Amino acid sequence: MPMYEYRCQSCDHQFELRQKFSDAPASQCPRCDGKVEKMISATAFSLKGDGWFNQGYCPKTEAPKPAACAGGGCCAG
Ligand SMILES: [Zn+2]
Repeated sequence: MPMYEYRCQSCDHQFELRQKFSDAPASQCPRCDGKVEKMISATAFSLKGDGWFNQGYCPKTEAPKPAACAGGGCCAG
């Protein structure tokens, strides 16, 4: 389930919501009932920094050496 980040335009309160794709987006600040805007969040899929591709996981099982993945070898691109 993706995580959405919102920021209140009234009190600048920031919060995250875990929602289904089918759920309606939040429109009110839980703190002051002000209007909120959805932020583009890279945390939604956790691909920034130490993502799955840095943990030795390689989609290509034909890779001869798992160590190659650590350096971004077979997993790069
Ligand atoms: Zn607010």
